[in-house]
Formats: sequence, structure tokens, C-alpha cells
Amino acid sequence: MSNETSKKQKRRRIFSTSGSQSGGKSVSASIHPEKVRFFRAHLLKWFKKMGRQFPWRLRECNTYQIIIAELLLQRTRASVVADFFNDFIKKYPSWQDLAFAEQADLEEFLKPVGLWKRRTAALISLARAVVTRGGELPASREELESLPAIGQYIANAVLTMCHNRREPLLDVNMARLLERFFGPRNLADIRYDSYLQELSREVLSRRSAKELNWAMIDFAALVCTARSPSHTSCPLATQCSFVSHP
Ligand code: SF4
Repeated sequence: MSNETSKKQKRRRIFSTSGSQSGGKSVSASIHPEKVRFFRAHLLKWFKKMGRQFPWRLRECNTYQIIIAELLLQRTRASVVADFFNDFIKKYPSWQDLAFAEQADLEEFLKPVGLWKRRTAALISLARAVVTRGGELPASREELESLPAIGQYIANAVLTMCHNRREPLLDVNMARLLERFFGPRNLADIRYDSYLQELSREVLSRRSAKELNWAMIDFAALVCTARSPSHTSCPLATQCSFVSHP
């Protein structure tokens, strides 16, 4: 079994954990619904005013642009990708164009955003696989993750943006925000902890799953930052566990 396959399987296993326990209770039983409602409402309100505008944050589903953006964001800061993204879409506007790209050209083009050789090859393989499927991506997690270059996070991005599914885009920043607001926990690896996976899904409402994901990403990047969180101006402060029990 290759390393990549084994990593994917491990993440899928953790991700599919349901009903994880917190001191014997499920997440939904251990978090007060009022606190979840407060979190959603204040985050969405903040996001409407302060959320970042990125060219890949589209109202309608565009799996090509979603996946390209997420792959670029894996290696580079969002502000750098924001400048680069439109150039990429201009040069390779569709799966079809990417499928027939010269690997050496693509590597050269992707150098500024740090995508290394292996990922470039995987990107072309993915485009070819999608073209072979008639340009359509599957709608199930299992099939999505079986495609080259698509792991748990990108599958979640497609499922939440295009199929309105409550799938969290959980990374260390979102985990930090959730952990601080809902209650500190001493976890060895917070990114893949099953409690946080379940909690992050719990806070997504079906109606606003996409916006809440974006809101958490932006809020963690701009307000609840790792080194200098802005507690005094934070709209979540009155109910934040980190502030009441630092
Ligand atoms: S009060 Fe501070 S720790 Fe809590 S969510 Fe706001 S910025 Fe983060």
C-alpha cells in the first residue's frame, strides 16, 4: 500500500467517525444548542460585513475552480493565490485544457505558488480522469477521494459547495477557533481529532454550510488568530469559553 493511499484511508477512517464521545456524551449532547445558534448567527453577521472576497468563492458550483483553488491553497497563502488564481483560469480555463497541458509548462507556471512536480503530475492525471468521465465529478465522498489529488479536505469542499452537504473544511485554524470558543481540550493532534470533526459538522447548518465554512476560515485568519486573537473586539467574546476560562 502506498503512503498516499494509507494517509487517505487513515483520514477517511477518522473522518467517518460518528457519534464520537466527549466524556461519555455525543458532541450534540455536550454542546448547548443556544451556544451553537449564537456562534452561527454572530459569525454569519460578521462574515457579511468582513468576509474576504476571493475569485474562487462563487455562488454557483464550479468544481473545476473549487478544486484548483484548494490545491493552490495547500501550498500558499490565500493572498498570494488570490493574485495567481485568475491567471491560472485564463491559461487553463477547463478540465479539458488542463488535461492536455504539457507537464513541463504547467510546472513552470506553478512555480510561484510552490506546487512541486509530483502534484503537477497528479493535477494533470485528475484533469484526464474528469475528462474521461465526461467532465462530471462524482457526488460521493468515496468516489471523489478515489480520484488523483483529491483527499478528504478537497472532497469536503466539493460536497459542501456543490451539494449543500454539512462537510467542514477543518484545518488547524478552524480547529483553534472551535476549540477556543466551545471549550479548551488538550489534544495531541487537533486537526484529526474525531471530536473536532463532529463538532465542526455540528456547527454547520444545512442552509448555510458553505457560508459558515468560509466565515470560520476568515474569522480564524483575521480575528481569532493563533498569536494575537482580538478578544476585545470579538463578536463571539460574550460566550467564548477561552475568554471565560483561559
Ligand atoms: S473571544 Fe478571543 S478566543 Fe474567543 S473567539 Fe473571540 S478572538 Fe477567539
